[in-house]
Amino acid sequence: MARYIGPVCVLCRREGEKLYLKGDRCFSPKCAIERRNYPPGPHGQSGSFRRKISDYATQLREKQKARRIYGVLERQFRRYFKEASRTTGVTGAQLLQYLETRFDNVVYRLGFAASRKQARQLVLHGHFLVNGKKATVPSYLLKQGDVISVVEPSRKSPYFQAIAKEVAHRSTVEWLSLDAQNMSGSIISLPSRKQIDTPLKEQLIVEYYSR
Ligand code: SF4
Repeated sequence: MARYIGPVCVLCRREGEKLYLKGDRCFSPKCAIERRNYPPGPHGQSGSFRRKISDYATQLREKQKARRIYGVLERQFRRYFKEASRTTGVTGAQLLQYLETRFDNVVYRLGFAASRKQARQLVLHGHFLVNGKKATVPSYLLKQGDVISVVEPSRKSPYFQAIAKEVAHRSTVEWLSLDAQNMSGSIISLPSRKQIDTPLKEQLIVEYYSR
C-alpha cells in the first residue's frame, strides 16, 4: 500500500493554498503558508512560478490538489476516475463521492482524527470496525448504511478518551451521523456534490483526464 511519505507543507506551498494536511498546526501561526506563502524550491521567491499558466497546467494543478487533499497516489486516483466515468452520474461529482467515502476520509470527517493522514494511520493500526468487523484498509469505500466504530480496547486509550470528549461537542457533515457516546458513526447517504465542501473544481480534473 504505497503512500506519500515526504514533507507535506511543501505540497500546500506548491499549490499556493492551505490543504489542511496537518491537523491543528494548519490553524496555527506555525502553518507554512502563513509564514512562507511562495512555492518551494530555489526559484520559489523569484516569482518565476507566477507566470501565466496554460489550461493544461491549471487542470494538472487541480488534479494534484485533489490527490494531495485526500492523500491518494496517482494510480489509485486514475482508477477512481475510470470508475467514475463508467457510471451514469456526473463524472466529477462521482469522483468526489469516491474520495469522500474512503474509510480514512470518513474517520476524519467524523472527527476521530485531526487530519486524513492521521485517520489513515489509525485505520492501518486497527482501531476501527466496519459493521462490527475489523477493517484496516484506508481506501475501502464505504456504502450507505455502513457503521464504523472504535474497537473496544482502543476506547480506553488516552487518545480516544480525549477524542470522545471533543467529538461530543462537534457536529459532522450532513451525510454522516455521529454517535459520540458510543464512539461510532454511520453513512446516512452517499454525499451529493452539494454536500462536499472540499474546494475543488472537479470539471478541471475531468478535462485533465479527457485530453
Ligand atoms: Fe498546509 Fe497545514 Fe502545513 Fe499549513 S500547516 S502548510 S495548511 S499542511
